[in-house]
Parts: sequence; structure tokens; C-alpha cells
Amino acid sequence: MIHLAGRTTAWVLFFTLVLGGMVIAAQPTKIGVIVVDVQGDFTKLKNGSLAVDGTDEAYIKAVEENTKKLKEAGFPIYATQDWHPKNHVSFFTNHKGKKAFDVIKLGGKDQVLWPPHCVQNTSGAEIL
Ligand SMILES: [Zn+2]
Repeated sequence: MIHLAGRTTAWVLFFTLVLGGMVIAAQPTKIGVIVVDVQGDFTKLKNGSLAVDGTDEAYIKAVEENTKKLKEAGFPIYATQDWHPKNHVSFFTNHKGKKAFDVIKLGGKDQVLWPPHCVQNTSGAEIL
């Protein structure tokens, strides 16, 4: 979870590229770039367990190039990283008889059961 310094108001602008793309947040006095969850398990490039369509080599290159340009232009760059223990409650493998994308009730709310992804200290969790 990223907490932007200061208030997020109507001044906040969002530009998103696919899932885990890039978000630019602007406030009257502070502007930052957040690169969201660009990790192996979310990319086709790395045959990730929860890969998003379009996240091939060209996509990753575009994220890298645009992030570099924004950094050179003086914007602070932040990245988020999805990071789960292998026994995470949202993984279907931790629920006997369930399969990926089944939905269960958890704390009274619907919870999608995901394929294991971004497990701590694995290559799939690495930020690209
Ligand atoms: Zn996750």
C-alpha cells in the first residue's frame, strides 16, 4: 500500500497502463510516479502464474523507458511489490478442494482464490 505524502484531492491525476502499469499522481506541490506491481508473476514475459495480457517484453521496456524519462525529468519514482507468504489465505492451494478463481467467504466478504503468486523471496515476486 502506497501512501502519498500529503492529501490526495481532486488534484490527483491517474494515468494507468494495463494492470501494474504506471500511475502518476499530481498534487499542487508534489508530483510522484508509482510503478505498480511490475513483477514476474504478473507478466507474460516471465510466464507468470497470474500474468496479465499484454505484459510482454515490449510492455516491460515501455515501463522502463518511461520511468527513466520521468526520473530524468525530476519526478520521484516509487514502486509497489505484491508480496505473499506461501501459505497466504488468498491462494486456492491453501483451501482443500478449491481451484483458481473460486470465490469463498472470508470475514463475511467475497474472496477470490488466486493462483499462488508473488511468493516472498521467489523470482515471481521480483520487481522487473
Ligand atoms: Zn497478490
